[in-house]
Formats: sequence, structure tokens, C-alpha cells
Amino acid sequence: MALLEISDIFKAFDGQAALRAVSLTLEQGHILCLLGPSGCGKTTLLRIIAGLERPDRGRVVFDGADMTAVPPHCRNFGMMFQEYALFPHKNVAGNVAFGLEMQNKTPPEIAARVREMLELVGLSGFEHRDIGQLSGGERQRVALARSLAPQPRLLMLDEPMGALDRALREWLMPELRRILKNVGVTAIFVTHDHAEAFAVADRIAVFDRGRIQQIARPETLYSQPATPAVARFLGFHNLLEGRAVSAERVETPVGYFNADGKKFRIGENVTVLLRPEGVRPVSLADAPACEDKMKICGIVREAIFQGPFYRLSLYTETGHELVFHLPCGMPLPSPGDRIVLEPDPSAVVFL
Ligand code: ATP
Repeated sequence: MALLEISDIFKAFDGQAALRAVSLTLEQGHILCLLGPSGCGKTTLLRIIAGLERPDRGRVVFDGADMTAVPPHCRNFGMMFQEYALFPHKNVAGNVAFGLEMQNKTPPEIAARVREMLELVGLSGFEHRDIGQLSGGERQRVALARSLAPQPRLLMLDEPMGALDRALREWLMPELRRILKNVGVTAIFVTHDHAEAFAVADRIAVFDRGRIQQIARPETLYSQPATPAVARFLGFHNLLEGRAVSAERVETPVGYFNADGKKFRIGENVTVLLRPEGVRPVSLADAPACEDKMKICGIVREAIFQGPFYRLSLYTETGHELVFHLPCGMPLPSPGDRIVLEPDPSAVVFL
């Protein structure tokens, strides 16, 4: 049985729906990420789970018990916010000890747990530091240690890395996952950054305008986004409106794409997603005019060296801009070059 079960939650503010028919489940020890653009309802759902907000309709069931009307302090759920809300007048140990003092633990129990938590987040020896003497990343770790110390039954993290720069976030993401998995806490993590969601979550719920569009493992989400909105939100550029011309073939403005084993209705509208990786250049620079409808032809707009690959953007003859990643090691195409690419069937997704 799922540890957390959210069913059919509705919530409106001033007549405007913030959440519409939201249902999801979360297993013990799993990390669920709520991913979506600003204003799509992620924080509202977190606040409803925490008990800080009452839904207009729907239920929150935790460990078999209906929590919908249970006050927040009786839930024993932990929360970590973007701004961390650390106490500036307490040192690191004082911050981590806060929830334990609320639980009336004895001073030796508190000292032992604070030590254990600081070791877990890699801050052993920082007990007596002032909060003002810490870097952004260190503050984030203290906030994490503080929220984990009272052993919450569920930990909610609302944009926990929002205040950090990208380089630091990239470094801390796997670290955050490692720590959460190490303690085995069940967690819900809110972000609008898909890279963060991929790195931390076991499952991701993609939100759009108050609804869950898709809920799946990161690998599934990436390989088979359910809707164009999900694909767009995951950062995919190459979405083409097409039409089925046979049970297995879709015609788009940039060419034909075959879907082995698919059974389209002739005339059906199908969106084709071309993933940026998984294309092979068949000819460069002096490629002949494109006759082959099974290949992608275009004029290079720019090719940017990105380390492991070139980010190539091109315009097709029909005026569509597409973006692909080409392996480094091949000659770098120049703006204005004509290029012909052959997509690998695994890089073509039909939505
Ligand atoms: P962000 O990533 O910017 O935090 P979000 O996805 O967490 O966005 P929410 O904060 O849940 O979105 O807000 C969802 C919608 O509900 C927004 O339109 C917001 O303006 C509205 N909303 C949220 N809380 C309130 C409130 N207390 N009163 C009125 N409207 C609210």
C-alpha cells in the first residue's frame, strides 16, 4: 500500500482554480518531485499535504489515516523552504537541535543526534559556527540537517536549491539524493528545473495549470513524454505537428517519420518529437538538395561547441528551427552550410 495517497484534490483562490482533480500516490522511502512552471500549483499542493491549507475537495491519506483535517503540528511532517528560514541568532548546532528541543529530547540525545546529522550532511565540526559565517551551500546543508533531525514521517522540500547558483546546484543535487536515500526518508521535492528533478527524484509529477499532466520515472518521462506540454517543459525544442498518412507513417512539414508497430488512424493529428541526440549527419556542407523525405535537411544557423557535443541549430526549407546535438570529433559545420541528417528511430517519439 502507498504511504501517501492524494485523491481528487481541488483548490481555488478567489474563484481561480489552483489545483484541479490532483491524485497521486507515494511509496515509503521514495522521492517524488513536483515539477512545473511558476504558478502551476506545486506549493499549494505541498501546503495542503503539510496541513497549512485545506483543500476544497479531495483527501490526503497518510499511512492509512485520513489527514485532511489533522492540524499541521500533529502530522510530524518536515518542511524545508527555499529561503531555509534558519535562525540567525542560533549557531549551526542550535539550528539543527531546534526540532529535537520541540520533541522534548534530553540534552545528550540532542547532542548525539546533532552530531549524527552534521556528519550526514558533511558538516562535522561546524557545530559552533554562526549562520552568517556559512556559504549558501553550507546553509542549505544545515537546513537539510535541521529538517531531518526530528525524523519526519514525510519530508517536503520547496525549491530547496532555488537560492544557489547553477554550478553549486549541479554539485549538490546528487548529494541531496544520496542524503535522503541514506536516511530512507519519504520525500516530496518541488522544483521548476527538470535537471534537478531528474537528478533527485524516483518519480516526477509534471504539473501544468493545476493538473498533473504525467507522473512517471525520470527515464520514462524523458523517453516518452505524454503530451507536447510535458515535452516542452522538459526542454525539448523539436516538436512538429504532423498527420498520419498510413497506420505507421506520419507526415510533418520537415519530412516523413515511421513508427514501427504503431497503428495510427489515417488523417489523425500526431505531434512528432525529435530528441536532440540520436541524429547522424549523412552529408555536410555540399549536401545535395534534399530529395529524401525520410531525412532532415536544413541550413545551419549556428553550431556551438558544448564540450561533449556540438549544439547545432538549423532551419529547414519549410522555415522550422530544429536543434540537435552532434558528437564532437566530426568537422564543425559553419553557419550557412547545408546539412542532411538521418534520425535514429529511437530519437523519434510520437505524442
Ligand atoms: P512557484 O513555482 O512560483 O512557487 P507554484 O507552482 O508553487 O509556483 P502556487 O504557489 O501553488 O504555484 O500557486 C498556484 C496559483 O494559486 C497561483 O496562481 C497563485 O497566485 C495562487 N495562489 C496561491 N496561494 C494563494 C493565496 N494564498 N491566495 C490567493 N492566490 C493564491
